[in-house]
Order: sequence, then C-alpha cells, then structure tokens
Amino acid sequence: MMKEKELTLKGIPAAPGIVIGKALLLSREQYVIPKRQVKEEHVNAEIKHFKDALIQTKQEIIDIKKRISEELGTEHGQIFSAHLLVTEDSMLIEEVISKIKKEKLSAEYVFQDVLKKYVKVFSEMDDEYLRERISDINDIGKRILKNLIGAREDALSTIKERVIVISYDLSPSETATMHKKNVIGFATDIGSRTSHTAIMAKSLEIPAVVGLETVTKDVKDGDNLIVDGTHGLIIVNPGASTLKHYESARKRFIAFGKHLLETKELPAETKDGRKIELMCNIEIPEEVSSVLAHGAEGIGLYRTEYFYMSRKDLPSEEEQFKAYSAVAKKMKPHTVIIRTLDLGGDKFLSQLEIPQEMNPFMGWRAIRFCLARPDIFKTQLRAILRASALGRIKMMYPMISGLDEIREANAILEDTKKELRKGGAAFDENMQVGAMIEVPSAALTADILAREADFFSIGTNDLIQYALAVDRVNEKIAYLYEPAHPAVLFLIKNIIDAGHKAGISVGMCGEMAGDIFMTLILLGFGLDEFSTSPVAVPEIKRIIRSVTMEQAKEIARQSLTLSTGKEVERFAKRKLKEAVPDLAIEVE
Ligand code: PEP
Ligand code: MG
Repeated sequence: MMKEKELTLKGIPAAPGIVIGKALLLSREQYVIPKRQVKEEHVNAEIKHFKDALIQTKQEIIDIKKRISEELGTEHGQIFSAHLLVTEDSMLIEEVISKIKKEKLSAEYVFQDVLKKYVKVFSEMDDEYLRERISDINDIGKRILKNLIGAREDALSTIKERVIVISYDLSPSETATMHKKNVIGFATDIGSRTSHTAIMAKSLEIPAVVGLETVTKDVKDGDNLIVDGTHGLIIVNPGASTLKHYESARKRFIAFGKHLLETKELPAETKDGRKIELMCNIEIPEEVSSVLAHGAEGIGLYRTEYFYMSRKDLPSEEEQFKAYSAVAKKMKPHTVIIRTLDLGGDKFLSQLEIPQEMNPFMGWRAIRFCLARPDIFKTQLRAILRASALGRIKMMYPMISGLDEIREANAILEDTKKELRKGGAAFDENMQVGAMIEVPSAALTADILAREADFFSIGTNDLIQYALAVDRVNEKIAYLYEPAHPAVLFLIKNIIDAGHKAGISVGMCGEMAGDIFMTLILLGFGLDEFSTSPVAVPEIKRIIRSVTMEQAKEIARQSLTLSTGKEVERFAKRKLKEAVPDLAIEVE
C-alpha cells in the first residue's frame, strides 16, 4: 500500500494542547449512527419513536410544501409530494418495524440500514425517472434520521472510540456534549478564537483548531492526525520523525501544565502585594472541579445559555435552581457570578421561535430578548435569587447598551423579589447586580452606568467585534480581530477608570482575560478581576506574581502610546518575556 503523504494545515488555535489520533469525519449533514442494541422491554418504545419521527417529518414536509407552493407556485411545491410518499410507504415502514422487533436494534440504525437497501434497489433500476428518485429518498431519509436522533450531538455523545472529530462546524452545544474521554481533539473548517465552540473546547480542555477552511476536504475518515491546538496546526498522516517530535512536545506540554499547577495554593498577587481576583468562566456545573483544581478563586462568568440549548422545552425554575445552587455550594466561600440568559449571536435556542436575522450578533439577543420575554427572564431570576441563599452569588446582565436596560431589568428583578418574599422563599437581599460591558456605547458611557451597577465585567469577545466591526466567528476577517488594537485598549481603560471613580470593582470575563500577552497591560490599567478558562489560570497567576504594580502601570502607560495592534502585541510580548523569562514564547 502506498504511504499517504504528510500534510500540514494551518488554522486558528482554539484550545491549547497536543493530541495524536484517528480522524472521525463528521460531514455537515451526515450522522454518526452507532449500532445500538435495545432491550426486549424497550422494543415497543423504539417502534413508537420511529412512528413519531415519521409523523414529525410528515408535518415538516407538509409545512415546507405549503410555504414553497405559496412562494414559488404549486408546481414547485409538488416536488415534496414524492417526499411525502416515502413517509407513507407501507413496505418501508413495515420492514423497519419488523427488523426492530426481530433484531432488537435501535430505530435509527435499522432505518438507516433499510434506507441504504432502498437506495441500492433504485440505483439499479432501468427507468431513468425512478433512478432520479434516489435524491428524494436520500433527502427525506436524512430528515427522518434527524428527527430520530434529535440532533447530531446525540451522535457525538455516543462516540465510543478515541477520535479527533473533523467537521465543517460544531455548534457550542455539540461541543458541550462531546465526551472528553473519546473526543480527544477537533478541527473545523469555520470558526474563530472567540466563537463559543472554541471557548467550550478550552473549557473542556479538548485541544482544537478552527477556521481551517478545507479540513473536511483534506482529511479522510480514519486518517492519522496530530492536533496542535497551541499553534493552530493539523498534521495529516504524519511521518515517523514528525510523530516523534510531537510525541515529545505532547509530553512537555503535559509536564509544563503540571509545573504551573504548583502555583495552585499561591495567591494571585503582585510582588508588592496587590491582590487580584483570579476567577474562571464555566458553562456547565461539571466544570467546577476543574476550576478548583487549577487554583481559581471563584467563577467570574457562569454562562447559562446551555440550559436552553439542544432541547425542546424551556428549563424550569427548579432545574435551574438545582444547577445554580450546586455550583454556589461547591464554590463556597468563593463568589459565583451568574450571567442572565445571553441567547443570540452564535448561541441559538432551538425551541423558541426566533426569526432568522441578517445580523444576529446585533439583533434580538441577550438582555434585549429577556426584557421582551419577562416570563422566561423571571423564571431564571427566581432560580438565581433562590440559589443566592445558599452561597455567594452575584448576577450580571449581558449586552447592556445603555442605562435604560439596567433600570428595566432591575425593575423586573425587584418584582421577582417581591413575589419571592410573598411566597416566603429565602434569598440574599443584598445580592450584587452588575453589568457586562461589551457594547461600545456602554464602554463610552461607563461613568453613567457605574452609578447604577454594583460591578462591571468587561466582555472583550463582543466588545472587540463591535468596536472593530469584525464578526467574531468569521475566519476570513480573523486577522482584523485584534485584542491589542489601540481602540480596544482605550475602551478598556475608560471602563476601568470610570468604574473605579464610582467605587465599583471592574473585572474581565472575555477571552482577553486569559491572553497572557495582555495580562501586564490589563494589570497596569488596574483591572481588579480576571476570569479565564481554568487551564489559563496557573499561567496568568504566575505572570501577576512576577511584577510590581509600578512595573505593570509603566507597561500599560507605554502601550497607550503605540499606534497599531501589531506594535502593541510586539511590545507586550517583549515585556512579558522580560518579566517571565522562562515562558515558552518567541519575541521578535
Ligand atoms: C464576551 O463577549 O466577552 C463574553 C464573555 O460573553 P460571550 O463570549 O458569552 O458573548
Ligand atoms: Mg458577550
């Protein structure tokens, strides 16, 4: 057999670390359907599941047919009649049901198997018209499968071997459902460093590279791969010497991580004793153990969108209360800052009727959505308030763009408190309520907002995209997404100064807080709290511990005199290397 040629692909580093393994190609529309045996007593439920999926699919097709007929004319709508016939094909339906009964296999596996047989039979037919029906069968087949397995993420969570997932894209919730044990790394065609998929990967400590553009074309299922998430590289079919090099780099990376963890018990304070709050961002309660293991002192951002994603109903107050209070209790006596629902942008909720928008990042999202849907908002507020009785909870609103939004949200909060008092439920009457500063209008009027917010948390992921007009998930313009851009530095400094003038604490929970090149500048600006992914904590702590405040202030002052993001970056790297000489970074 010919040896495959080694190929190196360069993308955007999303989550650090090195892994070596086999590729599992997940194409955009293809589902991974493992062979799943079902117990005798579950056979009837499996058949019902199949019938329900058929009904659901039929309804979807009827809706599409109606819409297309109205928009394009009935002759176009007729195309879907063939699809409907498949959902009613008694031979196919009976074959699937009898196979589920006989072989005791899952509905989706049997259906896929029977479908393949149908496609084969049609492809061998002489009649051209019938042969052309294959695409209809495939199309409707995929739709039925989708309804059978719910979503691709079900497939992701059932992966049994250790693989590196290759996909056009992964949604944040798909990333969240990946089993770290089996999905050891991933690479995608699209995405950027601050897409939520990348954030999730970092948080789950799964090395990942995104924005590779053609990885789904360049990699075949089963190819040997190296993922270098630190440098944003994918090496396809590596040769022996490359493998050897990366095997030792992998070991060094792990050893370095262990070494950094030795700082776990040490405080995050500068040489002259300025104490910084070093906290973590989490998405799911399971991440708390990693937060504590990395020596963080609280949770600076608990994203709550994941409750609402990949499900058909809305999360109840009780369900949310359980999760929030579990996190609060585990983190005690440390603080947990819960962010209220920030749906929209690249985080969509499947069960809500949210219209497609031209500019979702600038659309009906976050606090705007919550103020329009107080029913959904209040359920969350009740859960957060009740959990505040059991730990140190603070709360913050996302995407605040002006004072009115804080006032409106606080009015709903007061209403909710009244209801709870009436019902006798306990909560922390003095729970602090802050605002995320991630919209330029909020950054520029931070002095006004500071009068009515208990604290600020800077969301640089959004702030940068809005300030520089660079979509944070568009890999084509990723080169313009510059955290060190002078405009961004200016906004951040303004927010910190305004917060301090009003006597409130200013933290940062965007990805910039975990960017080692920015640490000294942010420290010098006076940032009180850094909230990062757990893996970033030890390194940030070490940097903070390596300088005095005077040194950091001088670095921050000089950074403001530079003219471009590149200049600031070069300067910051140089200063970082001077402060922490053994840090594995290269300076120009
Ligand atoms: C941010 O925008 O920086 C932030 C922390 O919020 P998110 O990434 O969830 O939009
Ligand atoms: Mg944001």
